Amino acid sequence: MTKHTDFYINGAWVSPSSPRPCDVINPATEEACATISLGDQADTDAAVKAASDAFPAWAATPPAERAAYVAKILEQYNKREDEMAQAICIEMGAPIDLALKSQATCLPWHLENFLDAVDEVHWDRPLRDDTPNDRIIMEPIGVVGLITPWNWPMNQVTLKVIPALLAGCTIVLKPSEEAPLSSLLFAEFVHDAGVPAGVFNLVNGDGQGVGTQLSTHQDVAMISFTGSTRAGKAISRAAAETLKRVTLELGGKGANVIFADADPKAVKRGVLHCMQNTGQSCNAPTRMLVEQSIYDRVVDEAAEVANKMKVGPTSESGRHLGPVVNKTQWDKIQAMIQVGIDEGARLVAGGPGLPEGVNRGYYIRPTVFADVTNDMDIAQQEIFGPVLSIIPFTDEAEAISIANDTAYGLTNYVQTADGARRNRMARALKSGMVEMNGVDRAAGSPFGGMKMSGRAREGGLWGIEEFLEVKAVSGWDIAAE
Ligand code: NAD
Repeated sequence: MTKHTDFYINGAWVSPSSPRPCDVINPATEEACATISLGDQADTDAAVKAASDAFPAWAATPPAERAAYVAKILEQYNKREDEMAQAICIEMGAPIDLALKSQATCLPWHLENFLDAVDEVHWDRPLRDDTPNDRIIMEPIGVVGLITPWNWPMNQVTLKVIPALLAGCTIVLKPSEEAPLSSLLFAEFVHDAGVPAGVFNLVNGDGQGVGTQLSTHQDVAMISFTGSTRAGKAISRAAAETLKRVTLELGGKGANVIFADADPKAVKRGVLHCMQNTGQSCNAPTRMLVEQSIYDRVVDEAAEVANKMKVGPTSESGRHLGPVVNKTQWDKIQAMIQVGIDEGARLVAGGPGLPEGVNRGYYIRPTVFADVTNDMDIAQQEIFGPVLSIIPFTDEAEAISIANDTAYGLTNYVQTADGARRNRMARALKSGMVEMNGVDRAAGSPFGGMKMSGRAREGGLWGIEEFLEVKAVSGWDIAAE
């Protein structure tokens, strides 16, 4: 493995301009598992310059050739997927099976889907059949700064880097300083795939440093960001001066609306989904809205599912929950559990403190609150841990009103056997995505939110178009083509 303290700039691993070491902490052991460097302005400038210099040639490379490079990245992944899973496991605490089967596999899944979607891009076409001299040309926007979080590290890196490469953009990636190891390995894949020097660059750093330097940089045309709503606002402000394009994938507080006629597995499915990845998913269904007539039964069932959930070492196989990413998050989640108790919600599973038998690692007890009202802080704030709030409702109108009464709008969920009701709910819910009856959205479906969940669509054709400019031309000479 490449020295973790180096950055990948202009096709080579280079030392930081000044040493600013930063330990990466394995949340399962609370011990350092690697040391990286935090970059400074000189490192950011060097990476942006490399990307700027590489842009004209990469933008002019035929799309099929760019796609061939991307396919070679997949070949590198296929040789080293175990290493990728191991990196994710130690950097952010995903248990090894989750890291291998769900986290690392985001890379091939998204990459292959983008290779399908790129064939749908109309790079160059007449405006309409009756306007042969009007041309619409899609062009890569330029140098893009990609800023990613730690919770699904390869998911977010792949959702940005691959479409940017296919679009013809050149890249400076700043992964999360909490989870940089998977991205450093990804950079090796890009290098070994033979992607031309300068097309992809990686500089580690924090939000105040490299994150802000990219957001304010004159030569960066776009920032694609995934992370907290707080940082999304800061980036928007920082980027305003240069009027660069900013796409934002932010937090969520999804409702999972369970009607009395929901299928028998809906409750268990909802609890498991909320707790998956130890509750560290922006699209987690953290508010379970339950029709009054089945409320008591659902509360009992949800508590039972949570009580049966195991937490355990990340190095061990199995479907147990790992720790949360760091001490700050552990403290924040503990404080929110206490807030729920103080607000008068009924604790039916889990609660404060470490799980039984655990004395090391940032582990949390899978926690369920019943009798939550939607004005409570635990129903309004993104907790980002394994904490579920159950809220009763009396009818469809009230369910919609509660579900939409949130600052966020990423994913909502509906469970009912009534197809007409599902369709009504899908239209009424204010969120970028609505998933119903446990059916996953298909490949190529756009991922993104409304309101405080941001403004961006990732995945599929939409995900590639985010990185393109639309040029409208008149006076085009078809005969000269
Ligand atoms: P974060 O916002 O603290 O950090 C995310 C990234 O932004 C990191 O690389 C960080 O260094 C950088 N950053 C922080 N402040 C910055 C600033 N002022 N300027 C530039 N860059 C800055 O978020 P996190 O704690 O790493 O991730 C958790 C958050 O991400 C949650 O709120 C979660 O909901 C959200 N998330 C959203 C999606 C989505 O697609 N909607 C997906 C995953 C995670």
